[in-house]
Amino acid sequence: MNHNAISIKDLHVSYYGNEAVKGVSLSVEPGNLVGIIGPNGAGKSTFLKAMLNLIPRDKGDVKVLGKTVKEVRKKIAYVPQRNDIDWDFPITVLDAVLLGTYPSLKLFRRPKKSDKEWAMECLKRVGMEDFSKRQIGQLSGGQQQRVFLARALAQNAELFFLDEPFVGVDVSSEETIVKILKELCWQGKTVIVVHHDLSKANDYFNQLILLNKELISYGAVSEVFQTDIIERAYKGQFAFMKEMGV
Ligand code: ADP
Ligand code: MG
Repeated sequence: MNHNAISIKDLHVSYYGNEAVKGVSLSVEPGNLVGIIGPNGAGKSTFLKAMLNLIPRDKGDVKVLGKTVKEVRKKIAYVPQRNDIDWDFPITVLDAVLLGTYPSLKLFRRPKKSDKEWAMECLKRVGMEDFSKRQIGQLSGGQQQRVFLARALAQNAELFFLDEPFVGVDVSSEETIVKILKELCWQGKTVIVVHHDLSKANDYFNQLILLNKELISYGAVSEVFQTDIIERAYKGQFAFMKEMGV
């Protein structure tokens, strides 16, 4: 039986009684590159974390590939928002990527030669093979983000979730990352990206989830990326958006 990549029913999340995500229901088919857009504080990160069981939900049912997140954890790669990561953590680039090769929590298992070769291959794909011995804290923002993508690739996941991967990232890293995300989708993988910059939404994604606590709209970019629909989510921030050609 074919399953949706993601199926969410009536997801509610709150912090200390304040609702951050209200009653979101949607299904994503495999092979899509989906942008989650919406203003600051719209609950984009919260939505992603709650979907992945990283924070508690008040209510709601989430299925990934027809199963619970717990059952398919190994098939899910998650790259958190930059400020959620401890960049002072003393770990080399290669070791950070190697962590992706065994998400089954056997973190201290001694990596085999084949694991290292695979990790190096993933680093090569993101153009970071020359930095394998560097500490992650000594990389630029773009390089760090590429390493985290390499870790996600090393995991051989079916679904990729990235939270604001382009913040603090140079243009060339951004282009490399987008290219790889598109390739993953062509291979039938599903990629979900939180992204606050509307100006690129058109080029980067084939579907958009427009969120402002509630689900405002979900569908093909051409359906969602319309003045009246975007305005519903961004309200007062609309004058600014007009300059970006929405
Ligand atoms: P976005 O990613 O769209 O900018 P967030 O999901 O980070 O939005 O936040 C949604 C709302 O929840 C905001 O009002 C934010 O202040 C609040 N919030 C986020 N994380 C926490 C937390 N750990 N504790 C309390 N409130 C939070
Ligand atoms: Mg966020």
